[in-house]
Amino acid sequence: EASASWPPCIRVMVNQSECLDIGDLFIVTCTGGTIGREKGKNHVIEINNINISRVSKPRIFEMILVLRHPRHSNHCSLRFDYTNNQYVVKDDGSQHGTFINNIRLSQAHEESTERGITHGDVLKLGTTELLLHIHPGTDTCTDCEPGEVKARVKLEQARKYIISVLMTAKEKKKQQKLELKSIKKRYGLKNMNFEDNEAISNPAYEDKAATRRKQVGSDGPGHKSEAPASVHK
Ligand SMILES: [Zn+2]
Repeated sequence: EASASWPPCIRVMVNQSECLDIGDLFIVTCTGGTIGREKGKNHVIEINNINISRVSKPRIFEMILVLRHPRHSNHCSLRFDYTNNQYVVKDDGSQHGTFINNIRLSQAHEESTERGITHGDVLKLGTTELLLHIHPGTDTCTDCEPGEVKARVKLEQARKYIISVLMTAKEKKKQQKLELKSIKKRYGLKNMNFEDNEAISNPAYEDKAATRRKQVGSDGPGHKSEAPASVHK
């Protein structure tokens, strides 16, 4: 089949980002491309974020530095390696790095060697996390079909919202308990339980004060005793 002999595409999905929409899909074909910050540079993925390197002309006094640190470049680039029949990624000397599955490709301002990309790899640049799917031809799977991705993102957002609401209710209850505890402490009622009278209904509870009143006597007004129960005389 003719289509089977064509190199596959990379279907790039936005997993996490401050500047791209989560769930957005980009297609990288075998012609490859660059990822960078600015418009008009024909980047295959444009990430307008401070942590993403941009192409700019170095100022004269920076020229010497630039020879050693090629920092005025794209952030990273992708190409299809026909020899090994796979996609490869290379950090173009970015400041903040390019990560594949959380492994940084090169030190700051240093160009990396090319690294092969496989289906399911996660490419991270700055705060942007991209999930890479590689399928032959125009194939997709349920995880990288744009409609499916968006639906999943919406579902996940709804789930997170529900959790946040539940957490708030739980947190409120916890807060109320803490406040009650602090009130009890402030008025010296720390060990008293007003809510369910657990102490009184507990058969193991021994009313030491009652025993003491019987044995030693009471210091109630008008009640004479040779050995007052109170320590205050
Ligand atoms: Zn897929």
